[in-house]
Amino acid sequence: MINSLMELSEKLVDERKKDPLLVALMERASQGQSPRFLLISPINRSGQDLQLFNMSQGDAFHATRVPGYALLPPDLAPTLFKGPASFNSKFPNKKGIIVTFDIDEPLELIGETLENITLHPDLQSLPILAFQVNYDNGSVKIIVHGKGRDYEYENRLIHKVRIPEELDDSLLVLLCSDSRIRPPFTGKGVPMAIQTLGGYIPQYSDNDDETAQLEKFFQRWLSPIKENRRILVVGHGNFEGEGSSCSAGTASLNPRTISNQSLRQAIEELEQAATPYEPMPPLSPEDRVKSLTKATRANLLTYPAIADAHSIAQLEIDELLMDTVTNNLFQFEEM
Ligand SMILES: [Zn+2]
Repeated sequence: MINSLMELSEKLVDERKKDPLLVALMERASQGQSPRFLLISPINRSGQDLQLFNMSQGDAFHATRVPGYALLPPDLAPTLFKGPASFNSKFPNKKGIIVTFDIDEPLELIGETLENITLHPDLQSLPILAFQVNYDNGSVKIIVHGKGRDYEYENRLIHKVRIPEELDDSLLVLLCSDSRIRPPFTGKGVPMAIQTLGGYIPQYSDNDDETAQLEKFFQRWLSPIKENRRILVVGHGNFEGEGSSCSAGTASLNPRTISNQSLRQAIEELEQAATPYEPMPPLSPEDRVKSLTKATRANLLTYPAIADAHSIAQLEIDELLMDTVTNNLFQFEEM
């Protein structure tokens, strides 16, 4: 699987380098990111949402919701929601929060999610652009709500809608929230993705928090045990020489300087998780994201559903590195 993903990514990079518009976006990406939207997608729709709204590289910073469940309040979802949303608050050109729901998700779940978004202290001034989507035929309905809307951006987004490529739910990718990277195409379609700061997820806590929702998601995805399921943990950074490092990984090298308290907490957790995998202090953000992917892989195995599938069916959990600017994939040994 790894080899075919890497071949495909290389092919796509070569194609993108022939398109002057995409080359200009890559040049901009090498300078940093300034996304306009915080995009909160269900895990199974993360990559498809970018295609649905015809988003370009750099347009949307990601947070994640577990499909079939309301987004939890910020304090119960520090990794999937609170940290990424706090990180998003420092971007100067932000216009709104996009949140998507599948066509069969109930109104109560939608209402609770919108309510919990408004509880985040760093999202107070941003409009919520909420959509219910049929991903098979690309039909999108604007959700009417009283939590602060922006009609202009709702309509702009609706006019950009196109039918996304098919979902390939045999692959789950753990990837950074960074607006410049996207889940790799698998050849069969768009994989599922959990997008968090540094692509990190915490250990299973056995509390009623985001890790309980993740465990339920893993259970549903992995049982009955299916042979073809794969997980890919991706660290991103400047791996091709002219690019840009992972901003969260960079921040985690010195979290004490961050003034936003909830962001500092999130970034400190990355530092604490990565340190046990570092025989010496990291020399670069790229060294840091490598140890962070190792920590994330180990944390995944604390979820009972994943541990079971790993021991019974040898569920594969691989790690790869992605260049922030080109999105080209690399193996650890090459770097
Ligand atoms: Zn990153």
